[in-house]
Amino acid sequence: MLSIGLLLLSAAVQIHGRSVGKYARVVGPETAAANTYDFIIAGGGIAGLTVADRLTEDPDTTVLVVEYGPFDNGEDSVLVPGLYNPGPYLWPVFFSAPQPGLNNGSFPVLMGGVVGGGSTVNAMFFHRGSTEDYASWEALGSTGWGWNDLLPYFKKSENFTQPNAQFAQARNISWQNEVHGSSGPVQASYSPYDYESGGNFWNGAASLGISAAKDSNNGDPTGIFWLLRVLDPTKGSRSYARTAHYDRVINSRPNYHLLPENAVSKVVFKGKQAVGIEYVTRSTGVKYTASAKKEVIMAAGSVHSPQILQLSGVGPKPLLDGLGIPVVVDLPGVGQNFQDQLSLAINYNFTSNHEPNGGSLNSNATYDAEQHALYKSTHQGAYTLIRTTGNQNIALPLRNTTTSYSSIISAARARDPASVLPPNTHPTVLKGYKAQRDRLLKQFNSFHSPIGSLSWNTGPATTLYMLHPLSRGTIAISSTDPLANPVVDFRSLSDPTDLDNVLALLRKNRDIMSTPSMLALGPTEIAPTGGFTTDEELKAVLRASTQPSNGHECCSLPMMKLEYGGVVDPSLQVYGVKGLSVVDLSIFPFELGTAPSATVYAVGEKVGSLARVCANVAQVASIRDTPLFHGVQSTTSSLAIETIDPQVKSKLSILALHFIPLLDKPFVQSPEFCKMFAKLTTKIALRKAGIRSDTFSFPESKPGSNDEPSTALPIANPFANLSVPKSWQSWSTPPPPPVEVAPAPVIGTRSPSSPLLRLPVADGRPTVVVFLRHCGCSFAEKTFLELRRLANKYPRLQFIAVSHSSQQATDKWVKALGGAWSVSVVVDEEREIYALWGLGISNTYHLLNPWTQVARNKLGKEEGIWGREVDPSGNRWQIGGGWAMDELGTVRWGAASKTADDIPNLVEACKTLGAM
Ligand SMILES: Cc1cc2nc3c(=O)[nH]c(=O)nc-3n(C[C@H](O)[C@H](O)[C@H](O)COP(=O)(O)OP(=O)(O)OC[C@H]3O[C@@H](n4cnc5c(N)ncnc54)[C@H](O)[C@@H]3O)c2cc1C
Repeated sequence: MLSIGLLLLSAAVQIHGRSVGKYARVVGPETAAANTYDFIIAGGGIAGLTVADRLTEDPDTTVLVVEYGPFDNGEDSVLVPGLYNPGPYLWPVFFSAPQPGLNNGSFPVLMGGVVGGGSTVNAMFFHRGSTEDYASWEALGSTGWGWNDLLPYFKKSENFTQPNAQFAQARNISWQNEVHGSSGPVQASYSPYDYESGGNFWNGAASLGISAAKDSNNGDPTGIFWLLRVLDPTKGSRSYARTAHYDRVINSRPNYHLLPENAVSKVVFKGKQAVGIEYVTRSTGVKYTASAKKEVIMAAGSVHSPQILQLSGVGPKPLLDGLGIPVVVDLPGVGQNFQDQLSLAINYNFTSNHEPNGGSLNSNATYDAEQHALYKSTHQGAYTLIRTTGNQNIALPLRNTTTSYSSIISAARARDPASVLPPNTHPTVLKGYKAQRDRLLKQFNSFHSPIGSLSWNTGPATTLYMLHPLSRGTIAISSTDPLANPVVDFRSLSDPTDLDNVLALLRKNRDIMSTPSMLALGPTEIAPTGGFTTDEELKAVLRASTQPSNGHECCSLPMMKLEYGGVVDPSLQVYGVKGLSVVDLSIFPFELGTAPSATVYAVGEKVGSLARVCANVAQVASIRDTPLFHGVQSTTSSLAIETIDPQVKSKLSILALHFIPLLDKPFVQSPEFCKMFAKLTTKIALRKAGIRSDTFSFPESKPGSNDEPSTALPIANPFANLSVPKSWQSWSTPPPPPVEVAPAPVIGTRSPSSPLLRLPVADGRPTVVVFLRHCGCSFAEKTFLELRRLANKYPRLQFIAVSHSSQQATDKWVKALGGAWSVSVVVDEEREIYALWGLGISNTYHLLNPWTQVARNKLGKEEGIWGREVDPSGNRWQIGGGWAMDELGTVRWGAASKTADDIPNLVEACKTLGAM
């Protein structure tokens, strides 16, 4: 038998904890480098997280997402629309090249640098383009990405909540349920609050013949309509890629790894095959590589995906040669065709505006405080709107914007497209641009495709958005340093048509402000355009005041034909290499006549679902070749399976019925397409059909380097191999929890939440949670008794105890203590919640150091608490702890216990939550 003295000596040598688990949610750079993944995704924004979510639905598919930014901390500035402040999570200081079209100004390059990307910082508008936009995309080579192809994925991405019927009728909200989804991960709803003056704007537009859109998301977004937002109607908070495609699934996806605060620096190639990535830890500058067996997926957004490709040797040869980067494939289109939507805010004074209005939160402290309190208690009111925005938006086709539309279009047609692009543009890029212009100018002539929109916040500002620019910019690296920003050149207004269109929108806005219903409010246009009247004067002001970016950067790796300067094919594979695809909004051929995020989500959903369809095709194709399926006969309408188990046969037939009809479609039939998607997922289809993915022994090897790490404690558990009585089993080495132990939550951050322990709790009470070290331990008993006492005393708080002993053992223990009274007891036998809260396995010192033994004796002698015998479940090596969360789930107090006798001071916890 080992003596206590020897134990303590060993403890002094090794006192830190152990990381456990085959897979985890958040991983460090070393873990990512040690694994081989099926897919590696560069960038954890909208596209990256959507695709990661869908790929990891197959438990056999492993995915690593590498994200440049950190996680947000659930701050009000992210979650509460009325406190919107994107600043902290925007990409750090980043300015464009000087813009000759905008009086040589340099402008901020706006985008998220955070898990969730743009969806964490954006203005929450959730709109789709027009059927004409997507039809034009198809005409340019994006076969299979038309409106009808995308509609199922728009629906799949969304959980639409219709507004209250009475409110909708009173405020002119119009929608069509049939174009919306009701069970997707992204919450979409209208704000339940409106300012009175919104009605004046609506009536003003109507008096000019601008009709109401039936539903701005039905493929014809023209007219006046209410803005749909990614607003969770129950919580009144932002719904974003993190909540929709990470938080929602992560507790059930040990195969989904996310490495934050690391920048992907390049794609690693073996010949033309992408086999992994190189990434750099931002805080240390240390570089690592991670391997991908199937695919490397670019989702770093329209500025950084082209940067990464260029750093990897995929791009225009002259640029790469100039920087000494070995060329993997000369692709002239990488970084060309860059676009953003221009915006201009026009300020107004009003003599008789309704109060409150969209400016009142900023100008009236009493109203602001009142609305904040209302939001806190009911999640209603003006705080459900992004601060200082209104609800009504007018999307205008050029023909309804200006009577000069035909001369604008003729002048654009007469212009030499080459004169609009940078000098020495590659002929393929020029050809593609000509094709785009042709399509866009047709759309300029249509009544169903907006060129811009007007949005009055009902207070001091109207914003114009120029949605369909003809100017084209560039993204180009100027250094091989992956942490240096690429040169972003918007080249705004390099095509004068764009200035004509901004001017037309400005004049249309003046028309609306001059309608009787708006004049009743006494508007005066002030900065920057007020007082200017001639076209020349106004154009000069517009060049001085228009913003080149709305944070909608796109199109720098377009999905177009190769001969059009395209970079990816319709299966989103990068031309000229293998195992490399792009899924973010850099694949758009051109800007949509709306904000982009709804389409980025749909692209991610389509990638995920098509992956399955093509996996079916590929799987059945390989089934046909296996000896198991000698009897399989296939026709274009059915599969006859004769030699296999009848149950599998019926499931496979169902599966076949799903894919066979698709084979008749030329696009899905294309071998390249199916090859690509067969690689993108492999076994999901069979799983979905209820067939084990390894039933047919496809040539899929298990990731060797993902082998379970050793379960040894940092110092050998002295009891591990002893043959002990049953009651001693709690001393044996526990198996690792199913997820890696995360860092413990710190004060000011959002608490972890999982299906077993959801925070904030449903009734919104501030909450104290304790994690019991072990039912049987005297310190756990003392903690629980104190929790029970306080729960009785402070009913306005919620008290929860988490136990990792079995339900039976926990119940028995609680009963022996006299009952739980007002404490909720959660059983977490797997220790999954413990791991999420940073509570792993202790070392020997934590448990057996001399001071802990002294404390144990003291507790026994002074309070009669000696611990108890329990059923042999749970174990004594588990670390406990306690935390206090406010009503929004933000951690206000607490930590993991440093040693077994470190009992959380729960009185302090209650004080912090304002209970005393
Ligand atoms: C201020 C603002 C307001 C907006 N408002 C709206 C709106 O109201 N409605 C709307 O539809 N759209 C809006 N947008 C645009 C929308 O959010 C973006 O178009 C959308 O997020 C793009 O999705 P994505 O997946 O292509 O890229 P992103 O969501 O930007 O994701 C790219 C991710 O890649 C990461 N990354 C970049 N480089 C690297 C690297 N080297 N290694 C690892 N990771 C990297 C980034 O940090 C980011 O998280 C707004 C954007 C901004 C900035």
